[in-house]
Amino acid sequence: MSAAGKARRMNRDLDVLVFERSPHTSYSACGIPYHVAGYVDDPRDMQVRTPESFRERYGIDARVAHEVVSIDVHDRRVSVKRFESGKTWTEPWDQLLVATGAGPVVPDVPGADAAGVHAISTLQSGIVLRRAVDEERPRRAVLVGAGYVGLEMAEAMLERGIDTTVVEMNDQVMATLDAGMAGRVEEAMREAGATLHLGEAVEGIEVEGGKARAVRTADRTLDADLVVFGVGMRPRTAIARDADIPLGDRGAVRVDERLRSRVDGVWAAGDCAESYNLVTRRYENVALATVANKHGVVAGTNIAGGYARFPGVVGTAITRFRDLEIARTGLGEAAARALGYEVAVATIESTTRLDYYPGAEAIAVEVVGERSTGRLLGGQIVGGAGAGKRIDVLAAALHAGATLADVVDMDLAYAPPFSPVWDPVQIASRVALKDV
Ligand SMILES: Cc1cc2nc3c(=O)[nH]c(=O)nc-3n(C[C@H](O)[C@H](O)[C@H](O)COP(=O)(O)OP(=O)(O)OC[C@H]3O[C@@H](n4cnc5c(N)ncnc54)[C@H](O)[C@@H]3O)c2cc1C
Repeated sequence: MSAAGKARRMNRDLDVLVFERSPHTSYSACGIPYHVAGYVDDPRDMQVRTPESFRERYGIDARVAHEVVSIDVHDRRVSVKRFESGKTWTEPWDQLLVATGAGPVVPDVPGADAAGVHAISTLQSGIVLRRAVDEERPRRAVLVGAGYVGLEMAEAMLERGIDTTVVEMNDQVMATLDAGMAGRVEEAMREAGATLHLGEAVEGIEVEGGKARAVRTADRTLDADLVVFGVGMRPRTAIARDADIPLGDRGAVRVDERLRSRVDGVWAAGDCAESYNLVTRRYENVALATVANKHGVVAGTNIAGGYARFPGVVGTAITRFRDLEIARTGLGEAAARALGYEVAVATIESTTRLDYYPGAEAIAVEVVGERSTGRLLGGQIVGGAGAGKRIDVLAAALHAGATLADVVDMDLAYAPPFSPVWDPVQIASRVALKDV
């Protein structure tokens, strides 16, 4: 919808037609865990714009409950099915944007399709989960996967008074964090009352009367009234693949920096498209709203005949478990070593405000640099209120190609209610610099 809006604003003569198979346009999937938790009660608050407002404000024809079932890149048509009537027809296009997003991975285990098993992607899937929590009053939830979705869902379930167990096949939560930082998150989760079973993969869901009743791993059987899968997202690109639109290694549509696919007249944006990583200098698939929104504006500008490019990502993400803020950008130590970098690393502990100032919270910052050049490669932050968004300093530094020394020299803001005199990201960079 960002692309559609941008294209129409740039060129009022364009006919813009959008097909969306769910009942909603322009919603914030990011808010779903907070809707389930009860912090945001009305799901309409998470919908930025409805199809009606797109029509009135922009003259965009957005049709919900319409699925594109195939793409013909030679005749330049899509085949569309309308759910209400079951009718299918073809619709011509001059320029086509594939923005089909990503879908949740559901492991191929017995019982995964039973009632009471959820996997979250669209607003509708969040509404269904919230309704299940409200109406069925589950006592025990098992969350499969301890990534961003698993973590946010764990907070939501605990908030709703539900006995919460998280099963994760890796030996730690949040695979993208280095082990020491992940350990801090695990401690907070256990303290909040969640049970963690790490290093255990789910082997099946036990079902009774069509409904999930337990989750089985190699080591145990966990009773469950509700199961939520949060084991990752996969780009939804089956219709692109079937149309011979080239995909990359991770199954996302190959695009250039203007978000053109390899097929003339076909563009791709958001979770279903690739992005260039400015740190690793490789193409990857990032399933984040911040990237998707930028992609949309770039694709919309280009489709309308303008010129825009998306330079790339550095791998920035943030989340929270209760009061603990968790953020990362660029490469962690393990990821950097796996790519063959010799690294200079420091993890420091400090406070979010000057330590004597009321409300100062603990913060741990890890900074990773390239040993031979001092180039900043990434950072990770875990800490109390005010900790997480400090990652943006490191993200901005990565975009600028800064060194650890550059970060130490940056003129960052200071007063006791906001930070120590040396911001924790600078303290960590200064310590890491000793290894360069
Ligand atoms: C629980 C959860 C929490 C998240 N939290 C964050 C966060 O805190 N921060 C962050 O940056 N990102 C977050 N994300 C990721 C973010 O929601 C996505 O990156 C973003 O929505 C991607 O936008 P998109 O337009 O590419 O895809 P989507 O928002 O998935 O939109 C794609 C749309 O295409 C529709 N569609 C698919 N195939 C077809 C078809 N064949 N025909 C018609 N319609 C079709 C789908 O129904 C869907 O509505 C979260 C995601 C989830 C699930």
